[in-house]
Amino acid sequence: MKALDYDIIVAGGGTAGAAAAIAAARRGWHVLLVEEQNCLGGTSTTGGVGEWFASLEGMGDIFDTTVRELERFGARYGNQKVFNHEYLKIIWQLLAEQAGVELLFHASVFGVSKDSDTLTEVQIACASQILAARARFFIDATGEGDLSYLAGAPFMQGDPDSGAVLHMTLTAWLYDTGEIQEPYLPEGLTPISGPEELPGLGTGWVVDAHRVYLNATKVMGHDPTDPFSLSAAEREARRQLTRVVAYVQCHKFPTYALAATGASIGIREGRRILGEHVLTQDEILNRTDPLIFEDGIAVGTSQVDFHSLTQPGASGWRKRVAPYNIPFRCLMVKGFPNLLTAGKCISTDQVVHSSCRMTPTCCATGQAAGTAAALALEMQVNALRDISVPRLRAILSTEGIELDPRKHQAYAPNDELS
Ligand SMILES: Cc1cc2nc3c(=O)[nH]c(=O)nc-3n(C[C@H](O)[C@H](O)[C@H](O)COP(=O)(O)OP(=O)(O)OC[C@H]3O[C@@H](n4cnc5c(N)ncnc54)[C@H](O)[C@@H]3O)c2cc1C
Repeated sequence: MKALDYDIIVAGGGTAGAAAAIAAARRGWHVLLVEEQNCLGGTSTTGGVGEWFASLEGMGDIFDTTVRELERFGARYGNQKVFNHEYLKIIWQLLAEQAGVELLFHASVFGVSKDSDTLTEVQIACASQILAARARFFIDATGEGDLSYLAGAPFMQGDPDSGAVLHMTLTAWLYDTGEIQEPYLPEGLTPISGPEELPGLGTGWVVDAHRVYLNATKVMGHDPTDPFSLSAAEREARRQLTRVVAYVQCHKFPTYALAATGASIGIREGRRILGEHVLTQDEILNRTDPLIFEDGIAVGTSQVDFHSLTQPGASGWRKRVAPYNIPFRCLMVKGFPNLLTAGKCISTDQVVHSSCRMTPTCCATGQAAGTAAALALEMQVNALRDISVPRLRAILSTEGIELDPRKHQAYAPNDELS
């Protein structure tokens, strides 16, 4: 099998991967973006999560373009941070095409070849074929850190004692039929008798005159990196969702019916790949002044949004944090000179992850990773540690990432969990 040749390969076309690929390709490099699903956007499209949580300013021109294009489509609900994610699929695709990214959908990275610790090739399962693709630099934006894991990189996952990760959620959108619905539960599904029995974050909210967004299932105790556990989570989520829909039809939205569910269960947390620095809660909590790192390539602004790992319902804790830099070292996979992470699998502890996993922040780390890989090629270095970080930061600044945490607002709107 002859290997395809690229400059940069990005595994995973969620927010971070799409931004990484666009950032690298628009600097003129030949970039392959490999995505398991049929579109870009990941959790924020196929996961049905049409909402942002974090400040939207200073997250980079790629993120700004997605916001602006959603507004032009009329797909952003007023001034809310909620949007029609179907349009985001179109927007990401067009942006990637314009940048010249080679898109490979229905394609799963399942293997890696290395020369010592340098990645040389990935193997991809795609449309009943096995492809091999080579590149100089690789970016793992798979959310769960699949590429780094396959390469043998060290990782962290879940609570340090129990290993439990934040719960998964199958999201859903309801539409107003204009007629009273007759709630129905197939045999084996018991009705929810009161609010105390709701599995997750309440009963959804109206986003416009005709639509309700339900982020209301809570599947705990499953591992998104274990194939059978992940499938069990999808099944459990659909059972929960059927019960929640019947409940809201009885108690809150009598004329609404199910319009769509996420194409995939939403995974809040998987592997966090060990980088050259692990950003920890000791660093970001309990401080009032912004946290600055000389190699900061993005800024986290969201409150820590930590759901209970064991209790159902809207349980958990939130904490406002002063804006903090995310160091480039959190994207540099420890011991792997030509591999970066981006998005929710970067190197943090579980608490920090609960702040920087938000979509706008993932977009910024994606843009930074793609730009860094491109810069490595431009500087003709073989290892990402050899790029000029000041130069990387200068490029990111001109491209709309506000790197000074003092110029950001902490984002902690209320007691919402997301
Ligand atoms: C229910 C829920 C509610 C949320 N609410 C909010 C909110 O209100 N506001 C907010 O800002 N954030 C929210 N988040 C968090 C946010 O949506 C995600 O953390 C963020 O979108 C993650 O982006 P990412 O690009 O890092 O990963 P993902 O979006 O997970 O993208 C990873 C991509 O990689 C692909 N992939 C995985 N493995 C492979 C492989 N081996 N080969 C090829 N492709 C692969 C996947 O198909 C996916 O498209 C929520 C998350 C969930 C689950």
